[in-house]
Amino acid sequence: MIEKTPLEEWIRRKIVPETPDLTRERLTTYQLKKIIENISYVQNNSTFYHNLLSDVSPCDIKSFYDIRRIPFTTADDIKKYNLQMACVSQNEISRVVTLDTSGTTGLPKRIYFTEEDQELTTDFFQAGMSTFTKPGEKILILLPGTRPGSIGDLLQRALNRMDVSSVVYGIVDEPEKVESIIIDKEINGIVGIPQQIFALSMSEKAPKIKEMHKLKNVLLSTDYVSDSAVKRIKENWGCQIYEHYGMTEMGLGGGVFCKAMQGYHLREADMLFEIIDPESGEPVKDDEFGEVVFTTLTRKGMPLIRYRTGDISRFIKHPCECGTVLKTMDKIQYRINSSVKLTDGYILTMSKLEEILFNIEGVLDFDAILKLKYKRDCLTIYLNTLFFTEETKEKILEVLKASELGYQISKGKLKISIEEKLNKELDIKAVKKRKIVDMRGENHEE
Ligand SMILES: [Zn+2]
Repeated sequence: MIEKTPLEEWIRRKIVPETPDLTRERLTTYQLKKIIENISYVQNNSTFYHNLLSDVSPCDIKSFYDIRRIPFTTADDIKKYNLQMACVSQNEISRVVTLDTSGTTGLPKRIYFTEEDQELTTDFFQAGMSTFTKPGEKILILLPGTRPGSIGDLLQRALNRMDVSSVVYGIVDEPEKVESIIIDKEINGIVGIPQQIFALSMSEKAPKIKEMHKLKNVLLSTDYVSDSAVKRIKENWGCQIYEHYGMTEMGLGGGVFCKAMQGYHLREADMLFEIIDPESGEPVKDDEFGEVVFTTLTRKGMPLIRYRTGDISRFIKHPCECGTVLKTMDKIQYRINSSVKLTDGYILTMSKLEEILFNIEGVLDFDAILKLKYKRDCLTIYLNTLFFTEETKEKILEVLKASELGYQISKGKLKISIEEKLNKELDIKAVKKRKIVDMRGENHEE
């Protein structure tokens, strides 16, 4: 029997403490009630929502079906309307997170949280971490944590409540230093960014760490991570890998794997999750992929209503082996804005490339650049491998041809070339989020 996700009991205590068990019906009744309350709250407290939801009357929301009529919010709304989306006065805001802006408007994306909002996240982190962390253990946090209210800080607060000691190191800058901490302090668990953890698990002392058998669990905090990268980390360190799904807009935490490792169980007491068709905006069926949309149910500072995340995933219809009534969301497949559409409509994503390339022995890192040559999509992959020879190159091309991309290649729609990455030094600080660089719009037709 696989242990049930601790999130279920946590949610039960929060929403129906008087009943011994949580049912799907009790959960949805609670969510609907919260949505209705929340709509009135935002209409009364934010000028942005007052305008956006002028046609929505909370008393007309009788079922989940009615929620479909509520308009979406987007990252652009956050950039454009910013403080107008906040529902409390500025002195009630305890933390502002400014996200780097890669969008078209050039405006920063600021998210506002109250002290209570942050407490909700800390509480979720505590429940989530208890999936695989026991009192007395030592956790190394490789996420930013110097500022109060940052992800590392909230995580440490959560662990303190569990009698788990932790070291907040921050983003990995010197792999040797981090490895020494893992070894000297006999760390039992690590939380970090997948690409950094992946690189770290290939550093020199990985065999020693594996041999010690102290490091049992790693939690990857992520929007997506390929199974092949997960497999390699697991092998290199001999540990179990859990995944967490969250973004700042969610108040940092969204969902976490249970011991069945089939997908994320979600923070359903604090958020309602939907999966929609990104084109039509209509909900898709369970098991079908679409865009993840969420509505905050308990946030006070800057609630988000039907916020479009840009992440592609699905709800898994088949019940999780752990036996929970909570939904299971599949791993994020890709982000809409980090995928590229090839000329014939095929969607090429970094996750597909990572899945294929990290499955190949010796591949440490890569960059991918897409150009247009003679009206044909040409993808150049710059590889950082342990041994780069003509044979490696041939082998990788063979693997790519045998993969999902094979059809594109054989039809002559996509040309792939493999090059050796010149700067072989693995810059762990730079390894955060890989992206296919799409240069087809630029005028460099050769
Ligand atoms: Zn489960």
